[in-house]
Amino acid sequence: MEFVSDCLGLNERDRLTIGGADVAELAREFGTPLYLMDEDAVRRNCRAFTGAMSASYPGKWAVAYANKALSCKHLVRVTREEGLYANAAGGGEVYTALKAGMPPEKIIFHGNNKTGEELRLAIGSGILRIVADGPEELRNISRIAAETGRTASVSIRLSPGIEAHTYEVLQTGKLDSKFGVPIETGAAMEAVRLALSLDGIDLYGVHCHIGSQIFEPEPFAMAVDVMAAFMVKVRDELSHTLKELNLGGGYGIRYTSDQRPRGIRESVSATAEAVRAAAEKHNFPLPELVIEPGRGIVAGAGITVYTVGGVKEIPGVRTYVSVDGGMTDNPRYVLYGAQYEITLPERAAEAKTQIVTLAGRCCENELLGKDMPVQPVRAGDLLAVLCTGAYNYSMASNYNRVPRPPVVMVSGGKPFVAVRRETWEDVAGLDN
Ligand SMILES: *Cc1c(COP(=O)(O)O)cnc(C)c1O
Repeated sequence: MEFVSDCLGLNERDRLTIGGADVAELAREFGTPLYLMDEDAVRRNCRAFTGAMSASYPGKWAVAYANKALSCKHLVRVTREEGLYANAAGGGEVYTALKAGMPPEKIIFHGNNKTGEELRLAIGSGILRIVADGPEELRNISRIAAETGRTASVSIRLSPGIEAHTYEVLQTGKLDSKFGVPIETGAAMEAVRLALSLDGIDLYGVHCHIGSQIFEPEPFAMAVDVMAAFMVKVRDELSHTLKELNLGGGYGIRYTSDQRPRGIRESVSATAEAVRAAAEKHNFPLPELVIEPGRGIVAGAGITVYTVGGVKEIPGVRTYVSVDGGMTDNPRYVLYGAQYEITLPERAAEAKTQIVTLAGRCCENELLGKDMPVQPVRAGDLLAVLCTGAYNYSMASNYNRVPRPPVVMVSGGKPFVAVRRETWEDVAGLDN
């Protein structure tokens, strides 16, 4: 029996395991809906990235985990222990990382419209880098740095005109995106000039993030070429050598068995090699290279376990299976039609002979997926959606005042409650 993720298996009772622990037993102990994560798999993923960087990049490098994929204190501790830096999108993620003991000098702060409060937290705590998204932000950073008497170490997010998706790579003339400063239009060079002229800013590097769920190394190499050419232009025209090249995340993972991403080692090595080759070609000092995987660290290491309520067969139409969660714990099907595999933890060894549509419990015509193969399913069964470690808990909401499920992490076969289950009182308790 082969599962889509290596954190899953079958035990001697033919039941689904995650990180070696029996999923049904964990569901009985912690209730459903339930997010389960294999902490050991998270650590293996961290090591795949750091191992590939150390094997293939001769310069200084860092792997920064993109906390937006799943931010909680325990995961900050795990990624810190594995030698990763933290990419934080927004003040809440910076705050969580600091609270969990991530050293400020390992935090990179992102966001396309950071508030003054967020910038004050970042600059005041001396975090490693602020990735500025445009001229207004550069001015805000300079002003707040002046107020606090500090110098902020800054890189600028550029849009290199490359947009990569799972199945296509587009090299567009001008990138239509709310993120980043376009290189093509000359705006990027203007932003660099501005940053160099402002007090309180040490312009350290440039950043780009070309997309997500990228399966092949080629788009990363294309981005490297564009970014390297820009760094050379900055050196030649403004006599300023940018020290850091941050290429963002986007490393693809396998959500369904038919998907074949090329693998972390291959994509990371190809990227690192492209940077080394570009530096050599342009006679440029090897930049400090940063990559920021989010999904690649956590997506495949997590599942969500539900209890099936009703099974409604509409003859000749479809069979709806309703579970005790939905868009409140996993909005990705609603948002992007994201594809997942499902299985019944207590009958995981049986053949998937039924095709179902998985419905949530929210007062909205919301689904978790359509036309999904599964074992014969009845009311009361446990049902697991696989590969939900990224952008599920972190995107969860309290729609219908549904409390968010807990995140339970398994290590060495033992569970640990990383985030406790919300209660109705947690939700209603904010009200005056
Ligand atoms: C979203 C994002 C990431 C992580 O993307 P993944 O697809 O989860 O790897 C990294 N860096 C930046 C700037 C991002 O916006």
